[in-house]
Amino acid sequence: MPSAPKWLFDAVDLFISKLPDVVVNETELISQTVKRVRLSGNFRDLNFPVGCYIDFRVSDTEARRYTVSHADKDHGFLELVVHLHGSGSGSQFMQDLKPEDEIKMNKPRTERNYYDRSAAGYVIFGDETSLALACSFLPVLKQNKQQFQFIFELDDQNKKAPELLGLENYMVFAKNGSFRNEEWVNQLPLFQTPDFQKASFVLTGNAKSAQTFRKVAKSKGAQKIYLHGYWLDGKKGL
Ligand SMILES: Cc1cc2nc3c(=O)[nH]c(=O)nc-3n(C[C@H](O)[C@H](O)[C@H](O)COP(=O)(O)OP(=O)(O)OC[C@H]3O[C@@H](n4cnc5c(N)ncnc54)[C@H](O)[C@@H]3O)c2cc1C
Repeated sequence: MPSAPKWLFDAVDLFISKLPDVVVNETELISQTVKRVRLSGNFRDLNFPVGCYIDFRVSDTEARRYTVSHADKDHGFLELVVHLHGSGSGSQFMQDLKPEDEIKMNKPRTERNYYDRSAAGYVIFGDETSLALACSFLPVLKQNKQQFQFIFELDDQNKKAPELLGLENYMVFAKNGSFRNEEWVNQLPLFQTPDFQKASFVLTGNAKSAQTFRKVAKSKGAQKIYLHGYWLDGKKGL
């Protein structure tokens, strides 16, 4: 429910328990348009599966989803990595967050189990909105010694974001529409390597790019593909 009348959100808020005393602990601009936000609170009783997200009420009438990039229940903090793309209420809400702000927060949830311990390897595709997802995957993939490749389409100013966030095994491409061109995607080095069909594909970020990627991966024999468009041009929320 990305948009709804204020009275409806107010009514829903009465029934869904919020996490008390969540405070912005620290914010950091990774680039001009990628921001890391650290929230502190008592998260001890929560689960944070890979790729879980939180619905934030970003205005009286709007809610937006953001992935938990990292959580530390023992020390009572969690982190988000958000794209400040500038034109929406979610982006504005995240841009405005500063240390000591108190926020009302829903519990994290997932719609699907992104991570499978038995997967041979992972190919994870997305854009700035997928950086948090990549950060949440990284420790578990390394710990379980699974192969992985992150592939990002990013604005030029965000090319360094994966490195600054400590990601590994990533390829960065310019966000210039290439990932909406099937022939171009077909030529990606990944598809020229043996055994890529055995990998699990997790395709997020811009919905059109992710759909094109899925079409090509499927046509080349990939078996396990999870598609979750995080945003669509011209559409509010998803
Ligand atoms: C499960 C899930 C997890 C997500 N996790 C994250 C996350 O960790 N970090 C994160 O930054 N985003 C994340 N997103 C994406 C985020 O919820 C959307 O980008 C959302 O639309 C932002 O809301 P907004 O109010 O800023 O813009 P909206 O009001 O939704 O949209 C306004 C306009 O901006 C465009 N727009 C929306 N997002 C972008 C963008 N990123 N770049 C350029 N144009 C855009 C829309 O197409 C529309 O034209 C996630 C989405 C989902 C579904």
